[in-house]
Amino acid sequence: MRDKSTSSDAPAPAATETPQVPSAARKIYPIVKYGAAVLEKPGAPIKKFDAELEQLTEDMFASMYAAQGVGLAAPQIGLSLRIAVVDVTGGKNPEAKIVLANPEVVHAEGEVREEEGCLSVPGFRGYVLRPQFVTIKAQNAKGETFEIRGENLLARAFCHEIDHLNGILFLQHLSMLKRDLIKRKIKKLRKQGEW
Ligand SMILES: [Zn+2]
Repeated sequence: MRDKSTSSDAPAPAATETPQVPSAARKIYPIVKYGAAVLEKPGAPIKKFDAELEQLTEDMFASMYAAQGVGLAAPQIGLSLRIAVVDVTGGKNPEAKIVLANPEVVHAEGEVREEEGCLSVPGFRGYVLRPQFVTIKAQNAKGETFEIRGENLLARAFCHEIDHLNGILFLQHLSMLKRDLIKRKIKKLRKQGEW
């Protein structure tokens, strides 16, 4: 999910804000944009939890920070897998890094209508109704099962990323009018070679 406060020309976070691994050591994946088939099909469950998967999740965090997002799902880097990373602090707090492998919503409560964006649909935003609180059951990069509760932006990020793993984009939650408007604009951008 895209951070609502960012713009395309905002400076990248300083290296001191992401102390775990120097970004130079990480692979920065290009983000797949709307129109790619991988974004609209469900991902395959993660079955193998090994060093390669841990590396992938760290590369996903690095790619997400580079794109100034607060969430990134594997289909957004072209991998049809049920894994996503979330950090609503943008790398400022290492403890806020959350890996969601095979996540599912076990409880949802309340409703919040807020503007939302997506790294795969750059430049477009829309109001989406999401639960105010959600409890997610998932596995971490080591395969350990855990439950985590999120509120407001974190709940929204969890739901947005789980949607990605099911092949659903936030566009599908918008009114038909708004969705068609965005799709038309993207079509035009594509014709101009800008998408
Ligand atoms: Zn997204």
